[in-house]
Amino acid sequence: MKSKENISKVMNILEKHYHHEERTTLNRMRKKPNAFKILIACLLSLRAKDEVTDKISENLFKVADTPEKILKLPTKKLEKIIFSSGHYHKKAQTLKSVSKELIQRFKSKVPEDKEELMSIKGIGQKTSNIVLSFAFNKEFIPIDTHCHRVSNRLGWVKTKNADQTEVEIMKILPKKYWQEFNGIFVLFGRTICQPISPFCSKCPVSKYCPRINVKRSR
Ligand code: SF4
Repeated sequence: MKSKENISKVMNILEKHYHHEERTTLNRMRKKPNAFKILIACLLSLRAKDEVTDKISENLFKVADTPEKILKLPTKKLEKIIFSSGHYHKKAQTLKSVSKELIQRFKSKVPEDKEELMSIKGIGQKTSNIVLSFAFNKEFIPIDTHCHRVSNRLGWVKTKNADQTEVEIMKILPKKYWQEFNGIFVLFGRTICQPISPFCSKCPVSKYCPRINVKRSR
């Protein structure tokens, strides 16, 4: 089911169901890209619900929206602001150390180069792709757990983890969909193609889906 024609049909259908204004916090931030804010929001979004990321990012940026301000913010205060995102202690440490590296190594600017970005402790594959794609409009596809799961169920890729999925998706997805892929698949994965038991009966692309490894559905 991974012919170019089928992939385009699925993408066109899903695009119609998931409009721009519905997209995730990080996707909304693309409208006025600020690389530092996108990076910080992405770090806060790890294992957090989107509504929570939205709220705490907004609260944090009211008091600290630059590496210098984050570094100056007392750790206890930072932890209090980001508490509801979960793993707040670890995330506060990461925000501080990333800010410090940006100041010391990159003159407080978020680098536009993937190797440089990933050389910063705490920044991995997904985060760097989000920053490069959303803030700098570069040709990378951020792949999270939803993108990975749904692509495998659709039979587009046969991969074991998100990093492998990224490599394979870049080979088969027409470039015109690269910018939108993450936003569409994250929302689709959260609402319809859910992890344990997807809503196949409500799925707008079910006729194009072989439901690979789907054991239970609704
Ligand atoms: S048919 Fe089911 S498994 Fe396939 S994409 Fe739709 S919800 Fe996911």
